[in-house]
Amino acid sequence: MTANRFSYIFGPELYGRLLWFGRLRWLAVCGLALGALLGPWLGFGGVWPSLVVIASVVALYNLFFQGLLHHSRQAGRSFTNLRAVAMFLMVMDLAALMVTTHFTGGLQSPLLPFFAFHMALGTVMLAGRSMYLLAGGVSLGALALLLLEARGRIEFHPMIAGGTLDVSTGSLNLLTLVAALFGIVYLTDSVASRLKSRSIELLEATEALSDRTETLQRLLSELEDLERRKSHYMRISAHQLRSPLGTIKTTLRVLVERIVDPSTKRGRKLLDGALEVTDSLLAIVNDLLDLAKIREGRDRAPWSRGVNLNQLLADLFDSLATEAAERQVKMIPDFEGVAVLDWGVPPALVHAFENLIYNGIKYSLAERPLTVELRTVDESAVIKIIDQGIGIPEAFLDRVFLEFVRAPNAKQHAAEGTGLGLAIVKEVVEAHGGTVSVESPGQEGSTFTVRLPLRHTPSEAQRLLRAGNDRGYGAETHRWA
Ligand code: ADP
Repeated sequence: MTANRFSYIFGPELYGRLLWFGRLRWLAVCGLALGALLGPWLGFGGVWPSLVVIASVVALYNLFFQGLLHHSRQAGRSFTNLRAVAMFLMVMDLAALMVTTHFTGGLQSPLLPFFAFHMALGTVMLAGRSMYLLAGGVSLGALALLLLEARGRIEFHPMIAGGTLDVSTGSLNLLTLVAALFGIVYLTDSVASRLKSRSIELLEATEALSDRTETLQRLLSELEDLERRKSHYMRISAHQLRSPLGTIKTTLRVLVERIVDPSTKRGRKLLDGALEVTDSLLAIVNDLLDLAKIREGRDRAPWSRGVNLNQLLADLFDSLATEAAERQVKMIPDFEGVAVLDWGVPPALVHAFENLIYNGIKYSLAERPLTVELRTVDESAVIKIIDQGIGIPEAFLDRVFLEFVRAPNAKQHAAEGTGLGLAIVKEVVEAHGGTVSVESPGQEGSTFTVRLPLRHTPSEAQRLLRAGNDRGYGAETHRWA
């Protein structure tokens, strides 16, 4: 428990108690003044000037410290300062009470119970050991008072006129006083310290609760954000599916209602068109499913060890050779070094690089080269797919990785396309701890750069490792999810 924390819990409370104690002190001042006033009638008239002096001293330091407390309220005094003030006031009060006791019959004074009263109040404010010290101090003070009065070193002031000092009564009173002082400190301290530790527990529980509430609120807002993005995504997906479906429906109605005869040339053309639209619909649905699988199924993906990117890209060159030849695009491999990922999902990587290289072919111009560059830089594989095709307008550079975004020049150049390929690429690359970016300076061709860390071990792969599932590229037929 740090001093700061302690001050946070008990500082304001101690402050309140000191103010309350100050108000009680005014009662004591009034009591002393009343004693001085009624003294002559009660039989101890001779000491009234002493009582007035004590009352004045108590009134003065009470006035001073109450003022000090009020002023320090805004300054936010630390607990240590407040405790020092409380301790000082306690000593002053006890000293004043001891002097008053001396003038009102010494150890036979009816004011003795007020020591016990002070001890109880003090223990609620101060640490137990300080109060034991004060109880010891008061006991010694009372003993000194009795001894000095008994030996005639100081004058005995009887409470009742003509009264004499009875040493045995005084001694008995002293013993009772000492027992009462220590007993009260012990009892009050055990109750107060239990209350203090309860307060600390309560504060800690409140803090933990507010921490949890904060975390919950953050999670809730994340969830809301996710929900918003999900419904936005669903809306644009549905929107993308609606227009081809609408086209198919219109075609079917025209044919079913015999507005156009399906056996005619025009009918045949309509059917071919509907078939084409169905293909694009299917392509969208397939891409959407792929994207959903990648987003949802990272932990179910076939994470494999030692994925050789040179091999993976070389295989893709073979499988895309026909498309490249059809569009008269010359594919050039430019590999330097060997890049092997510690962990990877081969089918997903194939899918991603296939999208990038296929785009390079699709959006290229005839007879232009398409270079796939592979380098290893700072423990990362850097793959660049460089084409000299139609390029990407600057306004679209940041957005092409979003779902369903297709630049107008791309739509013009190649009608077919879902606008989902690059979203899949981004998802796959990020699942491997990498990044993907695009440049298209002056819209003269495009360069897609994929950076994949070689030593990345995703948490999903770590789980596999712990489960003793240690697979490698080529060891099995890889299917995504
Ligand atoms: P799709 O190719 O099916 O339209 P993608 O998500 O693969 O969908 O690409 C999104 C958009 O990014 C394309 O429509 C096109 O505008 C732009 N794009 C992607 N690759 C290239 C490229 N190599 N050259 C020019 N534009 C490209």
